[in-house]
Amino acid sequence: MAGQADSKGPTGPICEVIAIDGPAASGKGTLARKLAHIFDFAHLDTGTLYRAVGLAVIARGHDPSDAADAEAAARALKLEDTQKPEIRGDEAAQAASKVAVIPGVRAALLDFQRQFAANPPGGKAGAVLDGRDIGTVICPDATSKLYVTASVEARAERRWKELRSRGIESTVPAVLADLKERDARDSQRTVAPLSVASGAFVLDTSGMTPDEVLAKAVDYIELCRSAL
Ligand code: C5P
Repeated sequence: MAGQADSKGPTGPICEVIAIDGPAASGKGTLARKLAHIFDFAHLDTGTLYRAVGLAVIARGHDPSDAADAEAAARALKLEDTQKPEIRGDEAAQAASKVAVIPGVRAALLDFQRQFAANPPGGKAGAVLDGRDIGTVICPDATSKLYVTASVEARAERRWKELRSRGIESTVPAVLADLKERDARDSQRTVAPLSVASGAFVLDTSGMTPDEVLAKAVDYIELCRSAL
């Protein structure tokens, strides 16, 4: 990846890292943003990196499953590419999960993510990273590790409501099929598959309100912080 996280340098203080993993539409992104706000940490939604790579390959008229094209796009990626509005769409999501199985793509994005965690931008004292392999591969030594999940039906219902609120037409069965396809690709790939990191706190959010999820996560993180 071409852009670098702002750096306090290799001798900067050791930062706290909150690693959040989980399947699509589990609520981990919303939780990560809230936690970053509460603890005044920097936040990196690592899914945007893979989404931007997928869209860049498509923009060149190529197939996101093509390893050479996807790896070249990952190496050329700039942080601005992750801020385009189309990054949140379904085309980007599907393309992301295709480029994400390619080892060269993951390798090209690894250093940026670790650099962000070690030297959070804006002089913040810590970082929250959310994705699929944060606690397992990117930051296995994170101060707190959460695995946020929910039944695929609950996730499909939530994603459908979110799409509807953004004026995007869809149906629950279509969203369910899309999530099942992505879940399978994300958890069955050979490189950095989605799995529960060792020592992670598993939070099943099915039937929980966002406030209940946040309260449980904060309690767990405070416990981890008190042991530092
Ligand atoms: O989290 P989000 O839905 O934006 O992620 C899009 C896709 O990017 C995921 O389905 C997954 O394939 C990939 N991804 C990944 N590793 C991450 C973050 C996202 O493989 N750390």
